[in-house]
Amino acid sequence: MRAVQFHSAHDVRLSEVPDPTPGPGEILVRVRAVSICPSDWRLYHYGHAGGVIPDHPIIQGHEFSGDVVALGDGVASPALGTRVAVEPSWYCGKCDMCLRGLTNVCRHQVFPSFPPHDGALAELIACPAYATYPLPDEASYIEGALVEPLGVALHALEMAAPPPNARLLTLGAGLIGYCAVRVAQLRGFTSIAAVEPVDGRREFVHRLGADPALASAQELLDAGFEADVVIECAGEAQAVEDALELAVPEGRVVVVGIPHPERLCFEANVPRRKELTVIFSRRSRENLAECVQLLSSGQVDLKSIPIRTFTLEQVAEAMDATAERPGDMLRALVLP
Ligand SMILES: [Zn+2]
Ligand SMILES: [Zn+2]
Repeated sequence: MRAVQFHSAHDVRLSEVPDPTPGPGEILVRVRAVSICPSDWRLYHYGHAGGVIPDHPIIQGHEFSGDVVALGDGVASPALGTRVAVEPSWYCGKCDMCLRGLTNVCRHQVFPSFPPHDGALAELIACPAYATYPLPDEASYIEGALVEPLGVALHALEMAAPPPNARLLTLGAGLIGYCAVRVAQLRGFTSIAAVEPVDGRREFVHRLGADPALASAQELLDAGFEADVVIECAGEAQAVEDALELAVPEGRVVVVGIPHPERLCFEANVPRRKELTVIFSRRSRENLAECVQLLSSGQVDLKSIPIRTFTLEQVAEAMDATAERPGDMLRALVLP
């Protein structure tokens, strides 16, 4: 099959590699859409993922959808030809965390695209059958690939366990921030504010209903603004500090982004005096069935998300676009 392999920073190559074969309990997916996550760009740009340097070429891409084209031993469903979205957090089902239902922190987790595991920027990928979710007829492959980031937003708001009539603030309104705003509307938050420096993204989330939607957190800090739940979706260490400042006493801060730089520094008196709960969320926890339901009921619109599409030959361009964050794009998608 054709696959794009990451060799080192800014060096990705389209190559011919052996087709994967589905093992017991797995299915083979013909990949139709892959959404480039900012975490994919981090590996592409810096050459390591959270300090882990791949020791061999690996295939990136973990937000994806496709068609079921082969079934491994012991797999009865989904049927051949089913269009599926895939949860990329693969768990063992046997460790202490899995037995408590905390599958996203499984001690033996496999994450396609995180070294040494291959991801989906290829024509084919083998996936556990349990991790696949049939897409409704009305959802495109592109929406199918965007279901995973929606799951991340859903999980973050579940972790926040907001009080009734809560006020939400999202720092960062990329795709996950956008999804968090929409989910918060469905969950009955009474007000939703957003901070996003990129004009097009800020206007997009403002049209959805985030008000105020501002370019910098400083304006909110100057105005003495407070929210019951602040979610950090910017992936920036400074945004974590801002989140602590902008949370109400007894409020909750959920760090969803992967902070950059990775070492966080903050004035401990800020969360201590306010007795804040600070939660670091990780990916999603079996939220994708609900995400697919939100799509098919029309409650969440992933169709009008501003995207740009690329081919397997153009993965480097898709990575560059992810970094440049042009105002007319929330996500770059590769259609293999
Ligand atoms: Zn991602
Ligand atoms: Zn486990």
